[in-house]
Amino acid sequence: MQVRVTTPAFVLRRIRWSESSLILTLYSLDFGRISAIAKGALRPKSSFYGRVELLSMLDISLSRREGRELDTATETTVINHYESIRVNPDAFVYSCIFIEWLLNLITGSEPSHPMFHLISGILDNFSAGTPFWPVLCSGIEKALRLSGFAMEIDRCTLCGGDPGDSSLWNAISGGIVCRNCSENSERIPPGIIAFIRKSRKSRLDEVRKLKLWQGGYRQCFDIMRKFAEVHLEKRIKLKSLSVLEALEDDY
Ligand SMILES: [Zn+2]
Repeated sequence: MQVRVTTPAFVLRRIRWSESSLILTLYSLDFGRISAIAKGALRPKSSFYGRVELLSMLDISLSRREGRELDTATETTVINHYESIRVNPDAFVYSCIFIEWLLNLITGSEPSHPMFHLISGILDNFSAGTPFWPVLCSGIEKALRLSGFAMEIDRCTLCGGDPGDSSLWNAISGGIVCRNCSENSERIPPGIIAFIRKSRKSRLDEVRKLKLWQGGYRQCFDIMRKFAEVHLEKRIKLKSLSVLEALEDDY
């Protein structure tokens, strides 16, 4: 059975499919992650032309057929193009890194309104300019949680006890470890534990103001990446990270 639906959605990826068509990976409000073909989208006369850009928030109409993994996009209007991200190379690359994280984390197709609103919150914050690192790290922390891979920071992941002010960490057991369970654990900077705790309870605009030491957010990022790789049992591929590294070297 074929149904026509319309949903708000973010463009997470667009791949050229044929001479004139695109295959889109979308995160939609109503259906979660979906793939859709936009036929003729690269033709200047197409109603999709110039509308289905990476990161754009669209209102998109889809024809869905039961049992088929690929929907057909029939028409779209732009809700937000995030122009201020597109004109700022830093904002753009941080946005791409976040989107790549989502592509790694979100594999099922269950819709999650909090996830949809997280993406919108991240892009709004990146639109507002620097600082990008705290927003990116908090976004990843929240996305991990929403996709069922929360980092444990309230109880020791080995004995279940109160971790107190410990900053011992074990990616395999899922997070913080108390001082009595220090074997097989690594010591990470206490500031990173504090940041993760704060990120849990705070909105993105509150997290923006948090400062870590030079390189601290990159350390936090790498700890979350390692955590995610252990629990997803796969490598987190982030092509945009090397672009960011090249940009940062320029400063
Ligand atoms: Zn313990």
